[in-house]
Amino acid sequence: MRIKEVEVIPLKIPFVRPFKISRGYVGAPEKPGEHIYIKIVTSDGEVGWGEARPMPTWMYETMESVYTTIRKYLSEALVGEDPYNIIKIHRKMEKIIAPAVTIGQPFAKSAVDIALHDLVGKLMGAPIHRLLGGKIHDYVELSALISGTPDTIADYARELWGKGYRCFKLKIMGDVEEDYKLVKTLNEAVPEGLIWLDANQAYTSYSLRLLLRKISSMENIICIEQPVPTFDFHGLSRIVEKSAIPIAVDESLFSHYDLIKLISMNALDLLVLKVAKSGIRTSLKIYALAEAAGISCMGSGMTESGVGFTAALHLFSTMDLVAPADLNGPQFLKDMLVKGLVIEGARAKVPDRPGLGVEIDERKLEEYRVKLRL
Ligand SMILES: [Mg+2]
Repeated sequence: MRIKEVEVIPLKIPFVRPFKISRGYVGAPEKPGEHIYIKIVTSDGEVGWGEARPMPTWMYETMESVYTTIRKYLSEALVGEDPYNIIKIHRKMEKIIAPAVTIGQPFAKSAVDIALHDLVGKLMGAPIHRLLGGKIHDYVELSALISGTPDTIADYARELWGKGYRCFKLKIMGDVEEDYKLVKTLNEAVPEGLIWLDANQAYTSYSLRLLLRKISSMENIICIEQPVPTFDFHGLSRIVEKSAIPIAVDESLFSHYDLIKLISMNALDLLVLKVAKSGIRTSLKIYALAEAAGISCMGSGMTESGVGFTAALHLFSTMDLVAPADLNGPQFLKDMLVKGLVIEGARAKVPDRPGLGVEIDERKLEEYRVKLRL
Protein backbone atom coordinates (compact mmCIF):
# COMPACT_ATOMS: atom_id res chain seq x y z
CA MET A 1 0.00 0.00 0.00
CA ARG A 2 1.39 3.39 -1.08
CA ILE A 3 0.23 6.98 -1.24
CA LYS A 4 -1.37 7.32 -4.65
CA GLU A 5 -2.40 10.97 -4.85
CA VAL A 6 -2.57 14.23 -3.00
CA GLU A 7 -5.44 16.61 -3.56
CA VAL A 8 -5.21 20.23 -2.41
CA ILE A 9 -8.50 22.07 -1.92
CA PRO A 10 -8.63 25.86 -1.34
CA LEU A 11 -11.67 27.01 0.65
CA LYS A 12 -13.16 30.20 1.98
CA ILE A 13 -15.36 29.84 5.07
CA PRO A 14 -17.56 32.77 6.13
CA PHE A 15 -17.23 34.37 9.58
CA VAL A 16 -20.35 34.90 11.69
CA ARG A 17 -18.75 37.79 13.62
CA PRO A 18 -15.71 40.01 13.14
CA PHE A 19 -12.37 38.95 14.60
CA LYS A 20 -9.64 41.59 14.61
CA ILE A 21 -6.14 41.45 16.03
CA SER A 22 -3.41 44.12 16.21
CA ARG A 23 -2.19 43.15 12.74
CA GLY A 24 -5.59 43.31 11.01
CA TYR A 25 -8.65 41.15 10.45
CA VAL A 26 -8.55 37.40 11.00
CA GLY A 27 -12.00 37.41 9.42
CA ALA A 28 -15.39 39.11 9.40
CA PRO A 29 -18.79 38.44 7.86
CA GLU A 30 -17.62 40.11 4.62
CA LYS A 31 -14.06 38.69 4.93
CA PRO A 32 -14.18 34.87 4.92
CA GLY A 33 -11.31 32.85 6.37
CA GLU A 34 -8.92 31.19 3.93
CA HIS A 35 -8.30 27.47 4.42
CA ILE A 36 -6.48 24.75 2.52
CA TYR A 37 -7.68 21.17 2.91
CA ILE A 38 -5.35 18.37 1.85
CA LYS A 39 -6.59 14.91 0.99
CA ILE A 40 -4.04 12.09 0.89
CA VAL A 41 -5.33 8.97 -0.88
CA THR A 42 -3.64 5.54 -0.77
CA SER A 43 -3.61 2.77 -3.40
CA ASP A 44 -6.13 0.96 -1.14
CA GLY A 45 -8.49 3.92 -1.27
CA GLU A 46 -7.95 5.01 2.35
CA VAL A 47 -8.00 8.76 2.90
CA GLY A 48 -6.20 11.17 5.30
CA TRP A 49 -7.25 14.78 5.78
CA GLY A 50 -5.16 17.83 6.77
CA GLU A 51 -5.86 21.53 7.06
CA ALA A 52 -3.79 24.70 6.81
CA ARG A 53 -5.18 28.08 7.77
CA PRO A 54 -2.85 30.60 6.11
CA MET A 55 -3.02 34.16 7.42
CA PRO A 56 -0.24 36.23 5.79
CA THR A 57 -0.80 39.20 8.14
CA TRP A 58 0.19 36.81 10.98
CA MET A 59 2.87 34.75 9.20
CA TYR A 60 4.22 34.91 5.67
CA GLU A 61 2.47 31.93 4.06
CA THR A 62 -0.49 32.71 1.80
CA MET A 63 -3.36 30.60 0.55
CA GLU A 64 -1.67 30.52 -2.86
CA SER A 65 1.76 29.62 -1.45
CA VAL A 66 0.38 26.77 0.70
CA TYR A 67 -1.48 25.49 -2.36
CA THR A 68 1.53 25.56 -4.68
CA THR A 69 3.97 24.40 -1.95
CA ILE A 70 1.97 21.22 -1.39
CA ARG A 71 0.97 20.62 -5.02
CA LYS A 72 4.30 21.38 -6.69
CA TYR A 73 6.80 20.43 -3.99
CA LEU A 74 5.66 18.49 -0.92
CA SER A 75 3.47 16.04 -2.85
CA GLU A 76 6.77 14.72 -4.30
CA ALA A 77 7.66 13.52 -0.79
CA LEU A 78 4.32 11.75 -0.50
CA VAL A 79 3.34 10.05 -3.74
CA GLY A 80 4.63 6.46 -3.90
CA GLU A 81 5.62 6.52 -0.21
CA ASP A 82 4.37 4.27 2.59
CA PRO A 83 2.13 6.54 4.72
CA TYR A 84 3.36 4.91 7.94
CA ASN A 85 6.78 6.53 7.29
CA ILE A 86 5.91 9.88 8.85
CA ILE A 87 9.48 10.55 10.06
CA LYS A 88 10.94 9.68 6.65
CA ILE A 89 8.37 11.86 4.88
CA HIS A 90 9.27 14.80 7.13
CA ARG A 91 12.94 14.31 6.18
CA LYS A 92 12.01 14.24 2.48
CA MET A 93 9.95 17.42 2.92
CA GLU A 94 12.93 19.11 4.58
CA LYS A 95 15.13 18.12 1.64
CA ILE A 96 12.66 19.54 -0.85
CA ILE A 97 12.02 22.79 1.10
CA ALA A 98 14.93 23.46 3.43
CA PRO A 99 14.36 24.74 6.93
CA ALA A 100 16.19 28.10 7.11
CA VAL A 101 16.56 29.31 10.72
CA THR A 102 13.10 27.90 11.44
CA ILE A 103 10.81 25.37 9.75
CA GLY A 104 10.36 26.65 6.16
CA GLN A 105 6.73 26.77 4.95
CA PRO A 106 5.50 25.51 8.34
CA PHE A 107 1.78 25.78 7.62
CA ALA A 108 1.98 23.70 4.44
CA LYS A 109 4.12 21.03 6.15
CA SER A 110 1.76 20.98 9.14
CA ALA A 111 -1.25 20.30 6.91
CA VAL A 112 0.63 17.30 5.46
CA ASP A 113 1.58 16.14 8.97
CA ILE A 114 -2.06 16.25 10.14
CA ALA A 115 -3.24 14.33 7.06
CA LEU A 116 -0.61 11.62 7.59
CA HIS A 117 -1.65 11.16 11.21
CA ASP A 118 -5.30 10.94 10.18
CA LEU A 119 -4.41 8.38 7.52
CA VAL A 120 -2.17 6.23 9.73
CA GLY A 121 -4.77 6.32 12.50
CA LYS A 122 -7.41 5.03 10.08
CA LEU A 123 -5.07 2.34 8.74
CA MET A 124 -4.32 1.14 12.27
CA GLY A 125 -7.89 1.54 13.47
CA ALA A 126 -6.74 3.93 16.22
CA PRO A 127 -7.62 7.53 17.06
CA ILE A 128 -4.69 9.95 16.64
CA HIS A 129 -4.35 10.46 20.39
CA ARG A 130 -3.58 6.76 20.74
CA LEU A 131 -0.74 7.07 18.22
CA LEU A 132 0.71 9.75 20.53
CA GLY A 133 0.62 7.63 23.68
CA GLY A 134 -3.06 7.93 24.52
CA LYS A 135 -5.19 10.77 25.82
CA ILE A 136 -5.08 11.77 29.48
CA HIS A 137 -8.16 13.99 29.09
CA ASP A 138 -11.50 12.96 27.56
CA TYR A 139 -12.44 16.60 26.96
CA VAL A 140 -10.40 19.66 26.02
CA GLU A 141 -11.63 22.77 27.78
CA LEU A 142 -11.84 25.83 25.51
CA SER A 143 -11.05 29.50 26.08
CA ALA A 144 -13.31 32.21 24.66
CA LEU A 145 -11.77 34.62 22.18
CA ILE A 146 -12.64 38.26 22.79
CA SER A 147 -11.86 40.84 20.10
CA GLY A 148 -13.48 44.26 19.75
CA THR A 149 -13.85 47.65 21.42
CA PRO A 150 -14.62 48.45 25.08
CA ASP A 151 -18.29 49.08 24.22
CA THR A 152 -18.76 45.80 22.32
CA ILE A 153 -16.93 43.16 24.37
CA ALA A 154 -18.72 43.18 27.74
CA ASP A 155 -22.08 41.71 26.67
CA TYR A 156 -20.42 39.10 24.50
CA ALA A 157 -18.06 38.05 27.33
CA ARG A 158 -21.01 37.71 29.73
CA GLU A 159 -22.89 35.65 27.16
CA LEU A 160 -19.89 33.30 26.85
CA TRP A 161 -19.54 33.11 30.64
CA GLY A 162 -23.16 31.93 30.66
CA LYS A 163 -22.23 29.19 28.19
CA GLY A 164 -19.57 27.89 30.56
CA TYR A 165 -16.39 29.64 29.39
CA ARG A 166 -14.05 30.47 32.27
CA CYS A 167 -10.97 31.74 30.43
CA PHE A 168 -11.10 34.74 28.10
CA LYS A 169 -8.37 35.42 25.58
CA LEU A 170 -8.42 39.14 24.81
CA LYS A 171 -6.78 40.62 21.73
CA ILE A 172 -4.99 43.87 22.58
CA MET A 173 -3.83 46.34 19.95
CA GLY A 174 -0.70 48.16 21.17
CA ASP A 175 -2.27 51.40 22.48
CA VAL A 176 -1.67 51.55 26.24
CA GLU A 177 -4.75 53.59 27.16
CA GLU A 178 -7.15 51.77 24.82
CA ASP A 179 -5.83 48.37 25.83
CA TYR A 180 -6.15 49.26 29.50
CA LYS A 181 -9.81 50.15 28.87
CA LEU A 182 -10.33 46.81 27.13
CA VAL A 183 -8.76 44.82 29.97
CA LYS A 184 -10.70 46.76 32.61
CA THR A 185 -13.98 46.33 30.75
CA LEU A 186 -13.46 42.59 30.36
CA ASN A 187 -12.42 42.22 33.99
CA GLU A 188 -15.58 43.99 35.14
CA ALA A 189 -17.78 41.94 32.79
CA VAL A 190 -16.45 38.56 33.97
CA PRO A 191 -14.78 39.30 37.33
CA GLU A 192 -14.23 35.64 38.11
CA GLY A 193 -12.88 34.78 34.67
CA LEU A 194 -9.24 34.23 33.83
CA ILE A 195 -7.83 36.73 31.34
CA TRP A 196 -5.21 35.77 28.73
CA LEU A 197 -3.91 38.76 26.79
CA ASP A 198 -2.53 38.49 23.26
CA ALA A 199 -0.82 41.52 21.69
CA ASN A 200 0.21 39.79 18.44
CA GLN A 201 3.54 41.73 18.38
CA ALA A 202 1.95 45.17 18.87
CA TYR A 203 4.26 46.45 21.64
CA THR A 204 7.93 47.19 22.20
CA SER A 205 9.68 46.24 25.43
CA TYR A 206 9.44 49.92 26.39
CA SER A 207 5.77 50.56 25.55
CA LEU A 208 4.72 47.32 27.22
CA ARG A 209 6.22 48.51 30.48
CA LEU A 210 3.70 51.38 30.48
CA LEU A 211 0.82 48.90 30.12
CA LEU A 212 2.28 46.57 32.75
CA ARG A 213 2.33 49.41 35.29
CA LYS A 214 -1.42 49.73 34.90
CA ILE A 215 -2.42 46.06 34.92
CA SER A 216 0.18 44.27 37.05
CA SER A 217 -2.03 44.20 40.13
CA MET A 218 -4.91 42.45 38.31
CA GLU A 219 -4.53 38.94 39.67
CA ASN A 220 -6.70 37.14 37.14
CA ILE A 221 -4.42 37.96 34.18
CA ILE A 222 -2.66 34.70 33.48
CA CYS A 223 -0.24 35.95 30.81
CA ILE A 224 0.58 38.37 28.03
CA GLU A 225 1.22 36.56 24.78
CA GLN A 226 3.69 37.75 22.14
CA PRO A 227 3.97 41.38 23.21
CA VAL A 228 6.81 42.21 20.78
CA PRO A 229 7.71 41.36 17.15
CA THR A 230 8.49 37.78 16.25
CA PHE A 231 12.27 38.36 15.94
CA ASP A 232 12.71 40.44 19.12
CA PHE A 233 14.14 37.82 21.50
CA HIS A 234 16.18 40.48 23.37
CA GLY A 235 13.03 42.51 23.99
CA LEU A 236 11.31 39.39 25.33
CA SER A 237 14.27 38.80 27.69
CA ARG A 238 14.06 42.31 29.10
CA ILE A 239 10.30 41.97 29.64
CA VAL A 240 10.51 38.51 31.24
CA GLU A 241 13.10 39.79 33.69
CA LYS A 242 10.84 42.59 34.94
CA SER A 243 7.21 41.59 34.37
CA ALA A 244 5.08 40.30 37.24
CA ILE A 245 2.69 38.91 34.61
CA PRO A 246 4.03 35.79 32.82
CA ILE A 247 5.08 36.26 29.19
CA ALA A 248 4.06 33.69 26.57
CA VAL A 249 5.55 33.33 23.08
CA ASP A 250 3.63 32.41 19.96
CA GLU A 251 4.88 34.03 16.74
CA SER A 252 8.50 33.74 18.03
CA LEU A 253 8.21 29.95 18.27
CA PHE A 254 7.54 27.46 15.50
CA SER A 255 9.91 24.64 16.38
CA HIS A 256 12.09 23.15 19.12
CA TYR A 257 15.02 24.93 17.40
CA ASP A 258 13.36 28.26 18.18
CA LEU A 259 12.60 27.12 21.72
CA ILE A 260 16.20 26.27 22.62
CA LYS A 261 17.22 29.83 21.68
CA LEU A 262 14.36 31.35 23.68
CA ILE A 263 15.27 29.22 26.70
CA SER A 264 18.96 30.10 26.50
CA MET A 265 18.03 33.80 26.42
CA ASN A 266 15.50 33.50 29.24
CA ALA A 267 12.99 35.03 26.83
CA LEU A 268 9.77 33.29 27.90
CA ASP A 269 7.70 32.11 30.86
CA LEU A 270 5.17 30.14 28.80
CA LEU A 271 4.78 28.98 25.22
CA VAL A 272 1.85 28.56 22.86
CA LEU A 273 1.49 25.32 20.89
CA LYS A 274 -0.48 25.24 17.64
CA VAL A 275 -0.88 22.38 15.19
CA ALA A 276 -1.27 25.04 12.48
CA LYS A 277 2.34 26.16 12.84
CA SER A 278 4.12 23.02 14.13
CA GLY A 279 1.92 20.10 13.10
CA ILE A 280 1.66 17.19 15.53
CA ARG A 281 5.24 15.89 15.38
CA THR A 282 7.06 19.17 15.92
CA SER A 283 4.56 20.17 18.64
CA LEU A 284 5.53 17.01 20.53
CA LYS A 285 9.22 17.91 20.22
CA ILE A 286 8.52 21.42 21.52
CA TYR A 287 6.47 19.99 24.39
CA ALA A 288 9.25 17.58 25.41
CA LEU A 289 11.88 20.32 25.38
CA ALA A 290 9.58 22.65 27.33
CA GLU A 291 9.03 19.95 29.93
CA ALA A 292 12.78 19.49 30.33
CA ALA A 293 13.25 23.25 30.74
CA GLY A 294 10.36 23.65 33.19
CA ILE A 295 8.38 25.83 30.78
CA SER A 296 4.60 25.38 30.86
CA CYS A 297 2.55 25.22 27.67
CA MET A 298 -0.69 26.74 26.44
CA GLY A 299 -2.70 25.53 23.44
CA SER A 300 -4.10 27.65 20.68
CA GLY A 301 -5.08 27.63 17.00
CA MET A 302 -5.61 29.76 13.91
CA THR A 303 -9.43 29.72 13.79
CA GLU A 304 -9.24 26.46 11.88
CA SER A 305 -12.29 24.50 10.84
CA GLY A 306 -12.99 20.87 11.75
CA VAL A 307 -9.80 19.16 10.58
CA GLY A 308 -7.28 21.48 12.23
CA PHE A 309 -9.52 21.88 15.28
CA THR A 310 -9.84 18.12 15.79
CA ALA A 311 -6.12 17.50 15.24
CA ALA A 312 -5.47 19.98 18.07
CA LEU A 313 -7.99 18.17 20.31
CA HIS A 314 -6.05 14.92 19.89
CA LEU A 315 -2.69 16.57 20.57
CA PHE A 316 -3.85 18.63 23.56
CA SER A 317 -5.67 15.63 25.08
CA THR A 318 -2.23 14.06 25.67
CA MET A 319 -0.87 17.11 27.51
CA ASP A 320 -1.34 19.15 30.65
CA LEU A 321 -1.87 22.74 29.49
CA VAL A 322 -1.92 25.65 31.95
CA ALA A 323 -5.12 27.19 30.55
CA PRO A 324 -8.17 26.17 28.52
CA ALA A 325 -7.15 25.89 24.86
CA ASP A 326 -7.82 28.80 22.54
CA LEU A 327 -9.41 26.82 19.72
CA ASN A 328 -11.96 29.32 18.51
CA GLY A 329 -13.14 28.07 15.09
CA PRO A 330 -16.56 27.08 16.47
CA GLN A 331 -16.99 30.61 17.86
CA PHE A 332 -16.33 32.40 14.56
CA LEU A 333 -16.83 30.10 11.58
CA LYS A 334 -20.18 29.59 9.90
CA ASP A 335 -19.29 25.96 9.35
CA MET A 336 -16.72 23.49 10.74
CA LEU A 337 -17.11 21.19 7.67
CA VAL A 338 -17.05 17.96 9.68
CA LYS A 339 -19.60 15.60 11.20
CA GLY A 340 -19.15 13.94 14.57
CA LEU A 341 -17.57 16.83 16.47
CA VAL A 342 -19.05 17.08 19.98
CA ILE A 343 -18.82 20.45 21.73
CA GLU A 344 -20.64 20.86 25.03
CA GLY A 345 -20.55 24.43 26.29
CA ALA A 346 -16.88 25.34 26.69
CA ARG A 347 -15.48 21.87 26.22
CA ALA A 348 -14.87 19.65 23.22
CA LYS A 349 -14.91 15.87 23.33
CA VAL A 350 -11.79 14.09 22.13
CA PRO A 351 -12.92 11.69 19.37
CA ASP A 352 -12.23 7.97 19.80
CA ARG A 353 -12.88 6.78 16.27
CA PRO A 354 -9.87 6.03 14.02
CA GLY A 355 -7.72 8.91 12.75
CA LEU A 356 -9.15 12.34 13.44
CA GLY A 357 -12.37 10.52 14.32
CA VAL A 358 -14.63 13.00 12.55
CA GLU A 359 -16.09 12.75 9.07
CA ILE A 360 -15.32 15.40 6.47
CA ASP A 361 -18.47 16.61 4.77
CA GLU A 362 -17.26 16.57 1.16
CA ARG A 363 -20.48 18.19 -0.06
CA LYS A 364 -19.60 21.19 2.07
CA LEU A 365 -16.05 21.24 0.71
CA GLU A 366 -17.61 21.78 -2.71
CA GLU A 367 -19.84 24.51 -1.31
CA TYR A 368 -16.90 26.51 0.06
CA ARG A 369 -14.27 25.59 -2.52
CA VAL A 370 -12.74 28.53 -4.42
CA LYS A 371 -10.67 28.71 -7.57
CA LEU A 372 -7.24 30.27 -7.06
CA ARG A 373 -5.83 32.65 -9.64
CA LEU A 374 -2.12 31.81 -9.72
MG1 LIG B 1 -1.22 34.30 19.49
